[in-house]
Amino acid sequence: MLVLWLGREFYKVKHGHVGIQGNELADQQAKLATTTGVDTIIPAPRSYVKRLLNKLMIKEWNDYWRQYNSTSGARVRDYLEHVSPKFLIHSKCLISFLSGHGPFPFYLCRFKILDSPLCVCGQVCDADHYTFSCSLTQKFHLVKPADAHKRAWFQNLINNSQALNKLKEAFRISGGVCDSLTQAV
Ligand SMILES: [Zn+2]
Repeated sequence: MLVLWLGREFYKVKHGHVGIQGNELADQQAKLATTTGVDTIIPAPRSYVKRLLNKLMIKEWNDYWRQYNSTSGARVRDYLEHVSPKFLIHSKCLISFLSGHGPFPFYLCRFKILDSPLCVCGQVCDADHYTFSCSLTQKFHLVKPADAHKRAWFQNLINNSQALNKLKEAFRISGGVCDSLTQAV
């Protein structure tokens, strides 16, 4: 049994009528509040408002990030579940790896800086090529994660200084390759 008090009116709605008369009255009152209601100031602590605004901004940021339709956006989402103000990347190599934007012929070719997306080893070379498979960076290869483990793998990478150094060295070599290719153009 649903009982609603609305002002001085008393409505009693029996089983079988729940969701009909009672809900209609609730809807009417809600509509009335939006059209004839007056602004009410509800005091709230500054910390509460700050927390609420912060939550809303992060939600908006995440919504935008999830819908961002680009190759690099999709790549980043493979490695990161969501955005967070607590997660800031300072390493240039990590940014290059995540975004795919860096000293990689495949990337430079997109912007017409190089004519070919191929590495001197003959394969198409993007960030993954130098990180996981190019013969020139073999000494610094990282183990390629399965698709299902990319996020866990990346969390391990950002806390693993040895792996980060390997990435840095691999991209130093790829930078050298790009330099030699751009000079040859
Ligand atoms: Zn290569």
